[in-house]
Amino acid sequence: MTSINLNTPIEQIARIGPIYQRKLKKLGIKTIQDLLHHFPHRYEDFSNIIPISKIKPNETVCIQGKILEIKMIRTWKRKMFLTQAVVEDETNAVKVVWFNQPYLTNVLKPGDNVCLAGKVALGDKGVHLSNPTYEKVTGYKLQVTGLTHTGRIVPVYPETEGLSSRWLRYIIKPLLINFKDKIPEILPLKILQKNKLLSISRAIWQIHFPDSLALAKKAQERFSFEELFLIELFVLRERLRLSQEKAVKIPFNLALVKKFIKGLAFKLTDAQRKCAWQILKDLEKPRPMNRLLEGDVGSGKTVVALIAALETIKAGYQVAFMAPTEILAKQHFQEVGSLFRDFNVNIGLLTGKEDKFVSRKLKREIIEISRVKLLEKAKNAEMNILIGTHALIQDKVKFGKLGLVILDEQHRFGVEQRAKLVSRETNAKKIPHLLSMTATPIPRSLALTIYGDLDLSLIDELPKERKKIITKVVAPKDRQNAYDFVRKEAKKGRQIFVLCPRIEKSEIRNPKKEISSWADVKAVKEEYEKLSKEIFPDLKVKMLHGKMTPKEKEKIMKNFKNKKSDILVSTSVIEVGIDVPNATVMLIEGAERFGLAQLHQFRGRVGRSKYQSYCFLFTDSSALKTHKRLRALISSENGFKLSEKDLAIRGPGDFTGHRQWGIPDLTMSALKDISLVEKTRETAKEILEQSMELKKYPLLRDRLGKFRQKIHLE
Ligand code: ADP
Ligand code: MG
Repeated sequence: MTSINLNTPIEQIARIGPIYQRKLKKLGIKTIQDLLHHFPHRYEDFSNIIPISKIKPNETVCIQGKILEIKMIRTWKRKMFLTQAVVEDETNAVKVVWFNQPYLTNVLKPGDNVCLAGKVALGDKGVHLSNPTYEKVTGYKLQVTGLTHTGRIVPVYPETEGLSSRWLRYIIKPLLINFKDKIPEILPLKILQKNKLLSISRAIWQIHFPDSLALAKKAQERFSFEELFLIELFVLRERLRLSQEKAVKIPFNLALVKKFIKGLAFKLTDAQRKCAWQILKDLEKPRPMNRLLEGDVGSGKTVVALIAALETIKAGYQVAFMAPTEILAKQHFQEVGSLFRDFNVNIGLLTGKEDKFVSRKLKREIIEISRVKLLEKAKNAEMNILIGTHALIQDKVKFGKLGLVILDEQHRFGVEQRAKLVSRETNAKKIPHLLSMTATPIPRSLALTIYGDLDLSLIDELPKERKKIITKVVAPKDRQNAYDFVRKEAKKGRQIFVLCPRIEKSEIRNPKKEISSWADVKAVKEEYEKLSKEIFPDLKVKMLHGKMTPKEKEKIMKNFKNKKSDILVSTSVIEVGIDVPNATVMLIEGAERFGLAQLHQFRGRVGRSKYQSYCFLFTDSSALKTHKRLRALISSENGFKLSEKDLAIRGPGDFTGHRQWGIPDLTMSALKDISLVEKTRETAKEILEQSMELKKYPLLRDRLGKFRQKIHLE
């Protein structure tokens, strides 16, 4: 092990064979450094070794003794391998049984000294140890490395990809012994001392093989601090940098705003007015706006953003409006077209998969033009507003006079996206303003951290005419009643969404993959078959999923919007932003599989008109936790409160969408601790005040560089 270092790829570790290499890679573990940072999610305390005479049924114990006999038998009836042994210490002997581990008799022999940890069971013939964790004890082992799997506090790792905790301990421990003193300390000594944090070498050991649970906690604290501190450094530095940049000034044009508002079919809420005002005030300044417009689903964010867009356009600059999906981009395109009808605005639509583009010029005529022409119009600034998906940030898309970037539901820092949108040739010295919109209710501590570089405008009320959505949990026996209700609504002319859960496994395995996988599609197809053929043969049922072509999707959505179908069965494609005011029922299958925040998003697809709306949560689960969560949804209409509850009930590992930010579980749980968030923020501020470039801390600066890539690249 002499020539290897922290960056050595796992392929070069002799004990890790090709199969395990593949499994580790699936978890994103490529180097020794990564392995050492693969942390346990809990511990098993086997530190107390007791005499065999003291063991009692149903207790979890750890004993040490000599194997008197060991044999393997095959039970023919149940086709199982049983390994039976007797182990003795100075005080007594006890029987031990393992199921289906036939190789054990090759590993453990009579006369071997072993440590066993596990549950004491009570059978017909007295007590025995059932399936205990075993470890051979040799004098050498005790002296040099200590016990690994028993006789101590033992790490338990998340057992994904068929990687057992036992195997991980076996791999990680020797590496720790070798490398724990070679990991560079990126946190300045002063910060460690002031915050009473463990040094890296101590923390890395104690998080894997803690001497006490208290030390394990201290170790976790150190790593949580480190992660949060890096995030804070990152966002605060970004904020400082931006404040030194220049942007175009968009003069406040009251007459224009008034004209626009007058043309709306509704009255703006006070919250919408307040937010629009804040945004317009920002646009007047010579510094780039960096603002997050946050508002619950259906609170009317789009129209607020469009006020800003219109001002920008009429001041002679362009707007880029980016939506997360094609369906939404098209929806925005249509909405902008109708709201800007009387303002003589050129509007373009650019999505990735299609090679066809549509441009709406002046009033209502839509003309189709080629991609080349569309890009040309964006570049020579003839296009006033270009709406699209991620396709907008391709290199070949260039804007002649970009003044404002609007990001809808991007769930991410917008800084990088804005940077990509800034034209490299024209007004590169000035940076466009940025308005990011989200309905994703996130806990305050998370908002502070993730969006630390953004100013916040909050739409905290819904349009007044809206009725409260009636939410109900539906047990399997009440399914038919719910279907009857759905039919009644459909007969009244209303429409219904049916949402199928995603299959969680595929998501966990590949968190960055597109939301909808083939497994989801299968679920949707099955549900569609059932509903269209068996349950509602008399109604028009359609389906929508992520694997359809953009054209198919568009057609289905358009027809649904135009009331050509009654029921739309879908994956979570419709999660964000879809606006079909005539839909009044949201029926969610497998509701327990979604996070509260996400369920709240789904629910927000209905209740968008004067009609009473309903949300039915179907679940087969009788788990208390599930019902507690779903009840929270019934009792609260406030997405922000729900997200806090979700974090509290489910714990950070489950928090919906946290993977989107590239934040590890440990950090998510740290985020529950608002005082830690504030502490790291303060510390980051102090460090940046000394030097924005972190001159005194090259290690920290390097790490921040890597961190940046990790958070941003999709
Ligand atoms: P979200 O904030 O979820 O993006 P939208 O901007 O899609 O919400 O608005 C939801 C619906 O509410 C749209 O049909 C929009 O036209 C309508 N709307 C927006 N503001 C108001 C208002 N003040 N009063 C009534 N309806 C409104
Ligand atoms: Mg929206």
